[in-house]
Amino acid sequence: MGVTTCDVLVIGAGIAGCTVACELAGAGVRVVVAERGAVCSGSSALNAGGIRQQFSQETSVRAGMETVRRLATFEEEFGIDPVFRQAGYLFLHDGGDSWRTLDRAVRVQNACGVPTRLVGPDEVARLVPGINVSDVAGAAHNPTDGYVDPNSMVAGFAAGARARGAVILQESPVTAIETRGGRVTGVTTSSGAIAPDAVLNAAGAWAPAIAALYGGSLPITARRNDIFALDRSPARGQFLPLTIDLITGLYLHSEGDGLVAGPAESFAVPDPPDNVAVDWEVLPFLVERLVHRLPMLDAAQVTHGWAGFIEATPDDNPVVGWTHLDNLYTMAGFSGHGMCLSPGLAPHVARELRGQSAELSLDIYRLERFERGDVAPEGVWGGSGIAAGMAGESAKANRGGAPEEGLRPAAAHGGSPPAKE
Ligand SMILES: Cc1cc2nc3c(=O)[nH]c(=O)nc-3n(C[C@H](O)[C@H](O)[C@H](O)COP(=O)(O)OP(=O)(O)OC[C@H]3O[C@@H](n4cnc5c(N)ncnc54)[C@H](O)[C@@H]3O)c2cc1C
Repeated sequence: MGVTTCDVLVIGAGIAGCTVACELAGAGVRVVVAERGAVCSGSSALNAGGIRQQFSQETSVRAGMETVRRLATFEEEFGIDPVFRQAGYLFLHDGGDSWRTLDRAVRVQNACGVPTRLVGPDEVARLVPGINVSDVAGAAHNPTDGYVDPNSMVAGFAAGARARGAVILQESPVTAIETRGGRVTGVTTSSGAIAPDAVLNAAGAWAPAIAALYGGSLPITARRNDIFALDRSPARGQFLPLTIDLITGLYLHSEGDGLVAGPAESFAVPDPPDNVAVDWEVLPFLVERLVHRLPMLDAAQVTHGWAGFIEATPDDNPVVGWTHLDNLYTMAGFSGHGMCLSPGLAPHVARELRGQSAELSLDIYRLERFERGDVAPEGVWGGSGIAAGMAGESAKANRGGAPEEGLRPAAAHGGSPPAKE
C-alpha cells in the first residue's frame, strides 16, 4: 500500500468531523476523513438532536445562531431534510440558582439577537399542556430553537463533503501517529498510511485516545447518558418545545406520537469502548421525575432506550484550536452540545486550519484556558456540571433492575435537589 497524501486528515466522521470536512473541501482543500466505523457511528448518532442558541457565553450563542441559520437552507444545500422542528427550547427553573444562571444567559443571548424571554408558570403551562407547575417559578423560552434528526444532519454534511471532493474512509481506525520536530509526519490507519499536512482530531469521546497516540492528553471524559422513547405525549400532533427541567433534572421533546426523554445525569466511563449499552436501572428515577412533571405520563409505556457518550470537559465547553503539535488541531469535548455548536463553528475552524483567522473569537474554547483558569463554565446545561449534582446518589438509591413495563413513579416526588448547572 502506498502512502496517501492530503492537506488535512480529519479523524472521526461525526458532526464535528463532517462539518469541517465539508467546509474545507468547499474551499478546495484536499481532505481525507478516517473513520473507525461508519459515518455517524459515535455520539452523533445517539443524541436527542436538540439545537439551541441558549448558552451563557457569546461565542456559543453565536455558533448556535449560525447552526440555526444553516438549517433554514440545509435541504436546499445538501439534498437531505434534517427534520428541523423549530418548536423552541424551554428551561424550567425554581427561582433559585438556576434562575440566576438563566437570567444572566438570557441577557447575553438578547444582546446577540436571540429572542429568548423569561416567562412565568402560566406561559409554561400554555407551552406544555398538562404540565405540573406547582414547583416551577418560571422558564427561559426561545421559540427559534428546536430539534433535528441528528443522523440526517450528519448525513447531509457527509454528502456535502464528498460532493466537494473529500474522501471519507470508513472502517478505517487510526492506530498510530508519528511525530518529528513537533509535527505530525504520518498517520497509520487500517486502510493504509497517510501523510497529511495537518490533522484534525474530531474523535469525540475518543479524542483523548487519539491524543495519547502522539503522547498528548485532553481533559475530556466520556460519560454515559441514557435516553428513552415513550409511546405518548401530553400534546399529540403538536411539537412541544424541547423542555429541560432544571428542577428535577430531565429533558424531553416530541417524537412521532410520543416523546423522547432522558435524565440530566451522566456517568463517567474510563477508557470508553466503541459502544455503550443503556442502563435500565436509570429508568425508575427518570420515571419519578417525568410523572411528577407530566402526570398524564403515568399511563405511558417506554418503547425503547439507548445510550451514548457525552464527551465532557471540566467547564462544559469544547476544546477547539491547535493543540500540542504545530499541525494538530482539536475540535472535541462538546459536553452535550455538539449538534448545536459544530455546524456553526465549522467555518471558523476550517479558516484556522487553512492558516486564516476565525471570524468568531474561539478564545473561550482554547485548551490553554484550563491552565490560565480564566474562562467561566458554560453553566446553562452540560455534561460535567450536571453529572456533579445528585446523579450518582439518586441513581444508586433507585437501582432496581429490569426495564419498566410502563411509567410508574419509583416513589412520590420528594423534591430531589436541582441538577447542578
Ligand atoms: C443521550 C445523548 C443526548 C444528547 N443530546 C444532545 C442534544 O440534544 N444536542 C446536542 O447538541 N448534543 C447532544 N448530545 C451530544 C452530542 O451527541 C455530541 O456532542 C456530538 O455528537 C459530538 O460529536 P463529535 O463529532 O465530536 O463526536 P462523535 O459523533 O462521537 O464522532 C467521533 C467519531 O470518531 C470516531 N473515532 C473514534 N476513534 C477513532 C479512531 N481511532 N480512528 C478513526 N475514527 C475514530 C468514532 O467512531 C466517531 O464516529 C447528546 C449526547 C448523548 C449521548
